Amino acid sequence: MNKKISKKEAENEIHEFFKDILNKNPKEIKKIRRLAMNKKIPLKELRKTFCKHCDNPHVEPSIRIKNDKLRITCENCDKKSRWKIK
Ligand SMILES: [Zn+2]
Repeated sequence: MNKKISKKEAENEIHEFFKDILNKNPKEIKKIRRLAMNKKIPLKELRKTFCKHCDNPHVEPSIRIKNDKLRITCENCDKKSRWKIK
């Protein structure tokens, strides 16, 4: 699939993709990350819905809050992602 799509179309595609993130696999997530990167579309909050280490969606992540940081432990690869809480 190498069709050229506009930024707007890419945004829609990404938006639709993340509605159903829990049913996606790492291969699909990698693809959508690449699309976002190519189109320079920031994923922002959407970044938190999948693991940045193994690209698996966080289905039942263990979440800890310490100081002003949110720590999500990936149930798949056991690696931790940290996010600042605003
Ligand atoms: Zn992971």
